Amino acid sequence: MSNLLCPVCKKQPMEKSSDSETKLEVDNCPECLGIWFDAGELETFYKSPDLVRKFTPVGGDSLHHTYEISATARRCPRCRKGMERPLVGGISVDVCRECRGIWFDHGELQKVTQTYKTRGLKGDDMVADQVRGGHASKPGKGDPFTVVSWFFNSFLASKIR
Ligand SMILES: [Zn+2]
Ligand SMILES: [Zn+2]
Repeated sequence: MSNLLCPVCKKQPMEKSSDSETKLEVDNCPECLGIWFDAGELETFYKSPDLVRKFTPVGGDSLHHTYEISATARRCPRCRKGMERPLVGGISVDVCRECRGIWFDHGELQKVTQTYKTRGLKGDDMVADQVRGGHASKPGKGDPFTVVSWFFNSFLASKIR
């Protein structure tokens, strides 16, 4: 199977990064440093030490990225459908309603992870409200809430430490 194309750089094929423990392989773009998760991969990601170290480095500088974040709708690298942009933990992530894949721009994964870590003990309701807020601001587009709640539940299930 040929590599997926980056949804941001469009013609740039993504690379595979793998974890020695879980054998998870995730697609990531060498150009814009974004990362793509197929449905279910996000949960495995947090059990994959090699990948967590690489993509959510402690004290890393990826929050200070200078890459320009486009506000235009992106297409799913797998099914080519336009993706939804729910707000999660204060940032917009790209989610495909069709295949339930999810895209994080450079720095976004780290930011969402830190949000869940720091608010995990007392603030899950607050995060949930943000998730629902992202849904409420997008009326008339089918049922993005199922995708958003799937996303949220995958975070709850992944037991981020
Ligand atoms: Zn890219
Ligand atoms: Zn898709």
